[in-house]
Formats: sequence, structure tokens, C-alpha cells
Amino acid sequence: MSIARAMSSPVADRTGLYGLLMARAGGLPNDDLIARMLFSQTLGLGALPPGLGLAPAAFLALMARHFPGFTLPAVLAVPAEEAARNDERDELLTLLQEHCAGADDSERWMAEIVTTACMGGDHLWQDLGLWSRVDLSRLMTQNFPALAAKNTRDMKWKKFLYKQLCEGEGVVVCRSPSCEVCVDYAKCFGPED
Ligand code: SF4
Repeated sequence: MSIARAMSSPVADRTGLYGLLMARAGGLPNDDLIARMLFSQTLGLGALPPGLGLAPAAFLALMARHFPGFTLPAVLAVPAEEAARNDERDELLTLLQEHCAGADDSERWMAEIVTTACMGGDHLWQDLGLWSRVDLSRLMTQNFPALAAKNTRDMKWKKFLYKQLCEGEGVVVCRSPSCEVCVDYAKCFGPED
């Protein structure tokens, strides 16, 4: 089920969990984005595990900070264990952590959440349970502004993140000298609906 279909479903009224969460929101920049992710998760959308990929203590801290006093429904139960780690995950996490805006503690949690979603197989905004690519651009600009500013040509965000890692390692993954003549152009740019 796509998020568009889910939003039009009578049982997935956006005034439901999303509204309940936002009624408890602490007024921080990431409140709305996290509420969207959690709402999608209750519908079985996205690729994030329970706890959004955070360790149990971190997820509880995130909930307390962003939605103080909110009682979690069972479907959002806190995971028993931290997500498995590997080199790819660690490199992505480090890249994001190094570019946190430094305005709010929750940027660190957002770095973990985005990293976890990057392990999914769909568009990043969908794997995050966000409602559109616009949400993801907002997330990136809000939490990792210096990194987001490097995406001057609106490359798809997951492609962009992995390209940053390759360039950091001095690895050339592109088969063409420039994007304009590249056969993979559509994979890196263009719509993500
Ligand atoms: S469009 Fe081609 S050249 Fe440009 S970043 Fe993607 S793979 Fe590399």
C-alpha cells in the first residue's frame, strides 16, 4: 500500500496517530517528521523496525523529548536489541553524524534513523515512512544542512549519500565523466514517486 493510498483510507485517518502525536509535540523541528514516520509504521509502511532503528533507551529518550507524556501503542513497541552493525552502516552513520547541524540533540537520533532506512530497498523517503520526497529534503536540510547543501543538483538522497562515501574514499563509481551523458542518470536524478 502506498502512502498516498494509505492517507485516503478511512482507517488511516491522518488525524489518528499523527494527530495524537502532534498534540503532544514538544515544539521541536523534528517533531513533525518523526510523527509522520511513526504514523506510517502503524500502517506497515516503510522499512524502519520498531524503535525506528534506535537502541531501546535512545528511542524512549526520543519519544520523551519529542512527544512528552505520549503512551506508545503496542505496534510501536520498543525493540529488544540494537540494530545489527556493519561497515556500510557505520560509514553512513559517521557521515551523517559529522554533518549534524548542532542545533538539537535529536539530530543524532535522526542520523541513526536515516542510516537504518538506507539499508532498505526502496526510495529513502518511503523506507523512512515519510509522506513525500519533500519531507526527506526537509529532514536533510534541517538536520544535516552542510551536507544537504552539497546536493546542488537535487540528486536522489540515497544516491547522494553513497556518492559522498565513495568520493570520501577516493573511489570513482560513476561510469561516465559527467551526469549529462550518463546512462544511469535516471537512477541518480528525477522523480521518486
Ligand atoms: S548520473 Fe551517472 S555520472 Fe552522475 S552521479 Fe549518477 S552515476 Fe555518476
